[in-house]
Amino acid sequence: MDDAGARPRDRGAFPPTRKSLGQHFLTDRRILGRIADALHLTGSETVLEIGPGRGALTDILAERAGRLIAIEYDRALAEILRERYARRGNVLIAEADVLTVNLGELAAGPYVLIGNVPYYITTPILFHALVPPRADRAVYLVQKEVADRLVASPGSKEYGALTVNVAAVARAESLFKVPAGAFSPPPKVESAVVRITPHATPLVAPEEERPFRTLVQNAFGMRRKQMRRVLRSIYNLDVEAADALLARAGIEGEVRPETLSPQDFARLLRAV
Ligand code: SAM
Repeated sequence: MDDAGARPRDRGAFPPTRKSLGQHFLTDRRILGRIADALHLTGSETVLEIGPGRGALTDILAERAGRLIAIEYDRALAEILRERYARRGNVLIAEADVLTVNLGELAAGPYVLIGNVPYYITTPILFHALVPPRADRAVYLVQKEVADRLVASPGSKEYGALTVNVAAVARAESLFKVPAGAFSPPPKVESAVVRITPHATPLVAPEEERPFRTLVQNAFGMRRKQMRRVLRSIYNLDVEAADALLARAGIEGEVRPETLSPQDFARLLRAV
């Protein structure tokens, strides 16, 4: 624990920074405004915020949201925020680990999602938020490296299971970079803001999502092996059966998982 990040006027007002909870507080007001802008709020939406922290983004969202539910794991911070918004009927502070929260149930209707997320669980949060009922759109501040993976093209070194699983159900955009100096205390990495917007017609149906994820995860575990070999290993098939499956999906046996598009993986799943 350390309190290096607190501005002098914050000392005493906030508990010590807990780096183990990924607490890097964004202090640049212009960037905070741009992050909120990226959610395109009209004033009527239910907004779920992940990790409000000291409330820098929460303050802006409380002004712009129809209803705001902010989920904070740190008990002391949750308490401070609860007091701060006690008079605002449209703001609810939920003290919880976001990964244990059913976001759709909490929102109890259509919702949008936003968060300067804790970096130690960025990928689990992104996957958790893909579970239906999904947000109408989501804006996240993430490590730049994660933003690059979200928008990577097949064949690039950033392209992987995260890219494909997100692309199967949503469109990912990397909007702008955020330097480490915009945070207090600064993280060790550069950051970027991304927006995730679910497709009207996803490549995989809700009941296919779990087997799709397993297939994609297993395939990228062997990203440099040929697909014939990958499928034999995943589904315990002989060469003929693996080739028949690939033929049904219209995929060559010699290609590698890292070159397959999300559409290829969806066809492959159906061929299985
Ligand atoms: N939104 C604030 C800002 O922009 O300054 C804080 C961002 S900080 C990077 C991440 C926040 O997520 C911290 O407040 C941290 O306590 C909270 N957090 C960490 N793990 C969490 C979890 N599992 N569930 C909910 N919040 C969590």
